[in-house]
Amino acid sequence: MHSLDVARLRGETKGCDRVIHFNNAGASLPPDAVHHAVVGYLEQERLIGGYETAAMYGEVLESFYAHFARLLNCQAHEIAFVENATRAWDMAFYSIPLGPGDRIITAKAEYVSNFLAYLQVARDKGVTIDVVPNDATGQLDTGALESMIDERVKLIAMTHVPTQGGLVNPAVEVGSIARKHDILYLLDGCQSVGQMPIDVNRIGCDMLSGTGRKYLRGPRGTGFLYVRGRRIQALSPPFIDLHAARWTAKNQFEIRKDARRFENWECFFAGKVGLAKAVEYALSIGLESIYRRIQQLAHYLRESIESMPGFHVHDLGREKCGIVTFAHDVLSVSTIQASLARHQMNISVTSVTSARLDFEDRCLRELARASVHYFNTEQEVNRFCEQLDGLAKRQ
Ligand SMILES: *Cc1c(COP(=O)(O)O)cnc(C)c1O
Repeated sequence: MHSLDVARLRGETKGCDRVIHFNNAGASLPPDAVHHAVVGYLEQERLIGGYETAAMYGEVLESFYAHFARLLNCQAHEIAFVENATRAWDMAFYSIPLGPGDRIITAKAEYVSNFLAYLQVARDKGVTIDVVPNDATGQLDTGALESMIDERVKLIAMTHVPTQGGLVNPAVEVGSIARKHDILYLLDGCQSVGQMPIDVNRIGCDMLSGTGRKYLRGPRGTGFLYVRGRRIQALSPPFIDLHAARWTAKNQFEIRKDARRFENWECFFAGKVGLAKAVEYALSIGLESIYRRIQQLAHYLRESIESMPGFHVHDLGREKCGIVTFAHDVLSVSTIQASLARHQMNISVTSVTSARLDFEDRCLRELARASVHYFNTEQEVNRFCEQLDGLAKRQ
């Protein structure tokens, strides 16, 4: 496996000249190729019209599905374009028939919007939510999961990489348990797709949602959903339109047979072209190489932060990814974020409201989140840490 040509990749990312961007879990810097794809599409719409541009770009728009099929190791008809990860996840989740007494099993690191949906169906449909405890490393305890399974469990839903830390949950092990018991398995891959190799067949998930703007480096306002072919027919989308279904007779309709039943007709066409380009770009670099580089940088960043007096890293898990969370004994995380921003260094803040189960367990309210990508460098990590250290010493 060859190592990455970081200088070239930085040269293809205009934003690298302006900022130290450690907010790739928020929204990454898009490569120039993605930017040009979006702008070029919009320019065509301006010149010849929106419907006419869509016709002209027919093949490019269609290639979206083939690129994702390659990225996730699935079929093109198992992919839907959705406006963001949350709505993609919702389309899958609210399609699942659930009723009184049914159980949903999830994990401690679960994302806020997913958990809100569980709470809603628990209230409205009498469904029970069960949360699997973590093991000693902080990832989902697969032994505990196995012991919680019974015939009432209708769904295992898990966040692969949480928004609030470097944890990578054991998606493959969870998948083998779901498969063994033939239980639907919905994986939130919002922070993992684009960051690491994802193979839906190796994982064994039935549904996987993700976004364009994070580790895939696509445009904002784009996302996608994967649904396993043999599961599609049993999932009735919570809403349908003239794209998801056909009005075949006055009192009849037919829902599409592929995953595009989860799409809607009107969408961000330029964004779809941009996201297709972003996937192509990631594939051309290689997801194995991307992940190796991200893990090396994140490891270096964690060690550097830990070595500074007063700072502490808070990431859980056996396997850790590019999301690095930390805090200082005295400085507030918003002070840290604001001070870094004045020096063109981007991070974000993650708080208890994003992942209440996890943060309450650890008695945390908020953490600074620095998320690195393959185009970041060791020198950027050094400058970033000098800035942090300087800030702490001026206290
Ligand atoms: C960001 C995030 C989401 C939401 O993605 P959107 O595209 O903003 O809807 C969902 N899950 C996780 C784990 C996330 O980090």
